[in-house]
Amino acid sequence: MIAGGAVRDLLLGVTPNDIDIATNATPEQVEALFEKTVMVGRQFGVSRVILNGQDIEVATFRTDGEYKDGRKPEKVTYSSEKEDALRRDFTINGMFYDPIKKEVIDYVSGQKDLMQRMIRTVGDPNLRFKEDKLRVLRAIRFMSQLGFHIEQPTQEAMKLYSESLDQVSMERIRDEWLKLLKGQHVIGALAKAYDLKIWGKLFDNWNHKPEMYNHIWSQGGFDDDKLWVLWFLIHVRESREKLAELGFHWKLPKELIKKIIFCYDSLSLLKGLNKTEAVDVAIFLAQPHGRLAVEVYESIHRGKLKEDWSKRLQEGKAFFKGLERLPEPLVTGEDLIRFGMTPGPEIAKKLKELYRNQLKFKVVQKEELLKKLIKK
Ligand code: ATP
Ligand code: MG
Repeated sequence: MIAGGAVRDLLLGVTPNDIDIATNATPEQVEALFEKTVMVGRQFGVSRVILNGQDIEVATFRTDGEYKDGRKPEKVTYSSEKEDALRRDFTINGMFYDPIKKEVIDYVSGQKDLMQRMIRTVGDPNLRFKEDKLRVLRAIRFMSQLGFHIEQPTQEAMKLYSESLDQVSMERIRDEWLKLLKGQHVIGALAKAYDLKIWGKLFDNWNHKPEMYNHIWSQGGFDDDKLWVLWFLIHVRESREKLAELGFHWKLPKELIKKIIFCYDSLSLLKGLNKTEAVDVAIFLAQPHGRLAVEVYESIHRGKLKEDWSKRLQEGKAFFKGLERLPEPLVTGEDLIRFGMTPGPEIAKKLKELYRNQLKFKVVQKEELLKKLIKK
């Protein structure tokens, strides 16, 4: 039986992100049935079947035991199809599809809510959010992805339980938040997160009104890293230390935190880009995250960038014409030492100047560059 989110997506006519199967077979029976399986959570009755190179999660119908920590059940017990539907978070996620009989099995009025474009918990919202606070965030995430509205009692309960979101692991919050940011309806979802005070709880003093950034989110099509950079840069303006601290708190990968900090450090240079020489723009763009920083800056200031700013950027980009990257420096530190310079910071300065000249005057021979040096 196809279960949960995949049924919702199939009924909506969109391709599911992943397909989950629910069955009355136990993991042992599933394992015996398929050639290739990986046990992923036997204690939760879940195995992963590899079929035609595709990973499919197969879970035995179950009820979740008591939720003691507000995060995950103490234990699960195998149960009926109906009970498995009742443990699911929202009615639109609580349906099954029987591919042999070609019928939808719906114990929770999921189809009706899907038609009404409504997000509603399965059962008493207070109880369901109390069990697992992450569901508060999931509701907003589905709102962002599907553009549905959230039923009023569900919203009331969300307001209440957003207070306890700190019981949820940062990894789970992070993954839901990224899905939220990627949603087609992110603007409405962020406004709702703000209204329901989920925002205040998650982001401490990030109290900028979300409408201020609608011009960014309406652009859409950002990849994951760019979304995170944008998200952090628009909300954290204090210092790079604060950014690093929050990046770690959000359990972002180290590489991504470095990108965020590079983009932050580039802000003042990018602001004065129109007053910078084109060759320096090119050198900036050649840095590992240079282009990302520019794209992020352009997204943040979309519609407000001056003509001379954009023109200078184009001039900088022109240095790359027909090239994958800028040419290597012709002159090295060793050359300068041979010319009688003593090792020290002067050399670095000189090398930078020579490299600028090399690019600016399109010099291709080392001798030509060095000649200029001697003349000086
Ligand atoms: P996605 O499109 O991101 O895969 P999804 O609805 O399939 O969205 P998953 O996180 O893949 O969401 O979970 C699969 C199904 O498991 C959900 O549709 C829902 O029925 C159930 N589920 C997931 N997380 C929870 C939760 N925290 N509480 C209750 N049920 C949940
Ligand atoms: Mg899924």
